[in-house]
Amino acid sequence: MFSDSFGRDITYLRVSVTDRCNFRCQYCMPEDGVDFEERQDLLTADEIEEVVGIFVDDGVRKVRLTGGEPLLRPDLPEIVDRLTDLEGLEHVAITTNGYLLGRKAEALADAGLDSLNVSLDSLDDEMFEELTRLGDLERVLDGIETARDHGLTDLKLNTVVVGGYNDHELEDLANFAIDRGLILRFIEFMPLGDQQLWDGPGGECVPANEIRSRLSERWTLESDSDTYGAGPARYMRLHGPNTPDEGHPLGIIGAVTECFCNDCNRMRITATGQVRACLADDHSLSVRAPLRTYSDTDERRRAIESVVQRALGQKDRSHDFDLEGSTVTDTTMSQIGG
Ligand code: SAM
Ligand code: SF4
Repeated sequence: MFSDSFGRDITYLRVSVTDRCNFRCQYCMPEDGVDFEERQDLLTADEIEEVVGIFVDDGVRKVRLTGGEPLLRPDLPEIVDRLTDLEGLEHVAITTNGYLLGRKAEALADAGLDSLNVSLDSLDDEMFEELTRLGDLERVLDGIETARDHGLTDLKLNTVVVGGYNDHELEDLANFAIDRGLILRFIEFMPLGDQQLWDGPGGECVPANEIRSRLSERWTLESDSDTYGAGPARYMRLHGPNTPDEGHPLGIIGAVTECFCNDCNRMRITATGQVRACLADDHSLSVRAPLRTYSDTDERRRAIESVVQRALGQKDRSHDFDLEGSTVTDTTMSQIGG
């Protein structure tokens, strides 16, 4: 079992399959993009399968494929197919901006994908375009419906709440989710990436407490200890207008103001095979090097396990995000995988 020096077991792995993206969300990437990695430097499907297999043998039970935009990768269904065949791995999920879902949902469903999260930051065409720069709201909404039609019904929505931009839409977004029986999670905007991201005034982090307070103007909020995922979201049930008798579940990820690090169960692998122990810490170590150095399978496994153990040894007890946005990393969220 992979565990860190604070006794936290690693059961959840986020794997970025590409650093490229067809959107340029203002909170995630600069308008001109970043220096994208060369294709030959990305882990191949074989390499992803091998590394994830090692993590699974060492305790990982859930994998999320992310990016950049994972659906840009033509072999994504094949990667999903291979991972779902790994014995011991219980859940394979993806996080996507939804733009290509209409075209790819069927292949992903056929490959055995267990669940997906779709980012949806606004229900207003103009705001959606402003925030994502290259996004198309109608296409994303159609993609969500297509995915559900193909049986991908374990589908959650993620909204990054950006003060000064979409924070007046909390109620509309919650109603949208309630109407469709979908679970929505509001995510605090995290200050990440030491780059000029915004076209205009930078977005503000709206604290989780403030999000709850705004929702409580419309619904009664019942905190709900049942969790709907392996992640850091805290769930509650909304009761009142438009909700069923048992209430409607909604999550908030208070990444900045409600530190969830005590329960951290995760590691990340970037698209080029850098193992990253914490979202907020740029230290990383390469599993691509051993993958491409050793021809003997056992030797490769030992070298990769040793890299992961060393990365885990560097894992801090918690990140140091704060509301002033003083934490910056050299990498953007798109390069890490969210
Ligand atoms: N492209 C896919 C997408 O947008 O869903 C997957 C990659 S994206 C980096 C993963 C998640 O990180 C998305 O839900 C996105 O909204 C979120 N994210 C990106 N930058 C963020 C930031 N600065 N603060 C909070 N969440 C962020
Ligand atoms: Fe692309 Fe996702 Fe980042 Fe938006 S949040 S730029 S869709 S990687």
